[in-house]
Amino acid sequence: MTAAYDIVQVASLGPAFDQQLASRYRVLPAWREPQGLAAFGDELRDLRVAVTSVRHGFTQAMFDALPALQAVCSWGVGHDTLDLQAAARRGIGVSVTPDVLDDCVADLAWALLLSAARRTAVGDRYVKSGQWRALGQFPVTTRVSGKRLGILGLGRIGEAIARRGAGFDMDVRYHNRTPRPQAPYGYEARLVDLAEWADFLVVACVGGPATRHLVDAAVIRALGPQGILVNIARGSVVDQAAALAALRAGELGGAGLDVLEREPTPATEFADLDQVSLMPHVGSATRETRAAMAQLVLDNVAAFMESGKLLTPVAVREWQP
Ligand code: NAP
Repeated sequence: MTAAYDIVQVASLGPAFDQQLASRYRVLPAWREPQGLAAFGDELRDLRVAVTSVRHGFTQAMFDALPALQAVCSWGVGHDTLDLQAAARRGIGVSVTPDVLDDCVADLAWALLLSAARRTAVGDRYVKSGQWRALGQFPVTTRVSGKRLGILGLGRIGEAIARRGAGFDMDVRYHNRTPRPQAPYGYEARLVDLAEWADFLVVACVGGPATRHLVDAAVIRALGPQGILVNIARGSVVDQAAALAALRAGELGGAGLDVLEREPTPATEFADLDQVSLMPHVGSATRETRAAMAQLVLDNVAAFMESGKLLTPVAVREWQP
């Protein structure tokens, strides 16, 4: 008996993507069922490819439900929600959508950095609410150009953030687990030393258990009362309670956060802090980049269906615990 479906889709990636996928393959749209894969039985037996998103993830239970699975194609670049160990145990390939989102995530890091330093979001409210006329001159803010930019995680996105630093005449240094000798930036072997040196510390490393609270109270203290913390990576990398306490005590100068420890959240604890700029986890969320990410998922699916190989598999190193 031939299989009824080629692909199982556990997350919708938007109507345009869903339609394109369904026009090319026989797709089981499991995302339509509130119970997900648990709603199906025999239909799952022969499925070789699954499509998901970094937000939806792919858990051990999902792997267990799909005995013939050979590849998972995920939308997004983070893999903290994908159980890579479970995939590795069964030799299942996992692809993400790297490179195509670097520029937009880097742009947003800079938007947050500039907003936290120059208070553009606060200034916008100041003008629109009539405070400019009522109260007069807006308070002075913090210079950005010519300052010191520290990057935690000089990967694809970190590099794009660093390159933009040159346009602001900034001195750039970074911290990774491993130095990158080809990179034209200084390396700091200890994150706390990078924070001590930097005026702006931008977090662009991977999320997950290995980097949880890497930016802790000591790193925040080292960044200091004039320092500004920007996070476009994952909320888990920053000890948010420590950052909040430091902001309130004036021990950290400001913050620009696209990601928080709990999402979505009203984040009322930040509401009265003008030195903090927040965005609702939208680093890659431009029309152009979202279309490119969707295309890369389709390309990975097509490559796997045709050749059994993924175009952009998760790097082997990331499979280590
Ligand atoms: P990447 O190219 O894999 O770079 C990750 C960097 O993190 C590498 O330089 C890596 O260097 C460093 N790193 C990993 N573990 C570390 C550790 N324990 N300590 C210090 N550095 C560490 O990834 P990318 O494509 O640039 O993406 C980075 C992250 O951005 C993603 O994982 C995702 O979570 C986040 N992201 C957010 C958005 C958003 O919407 N805000 C969008 C896309 C991605 P070493 O391996 O040498 O340590």
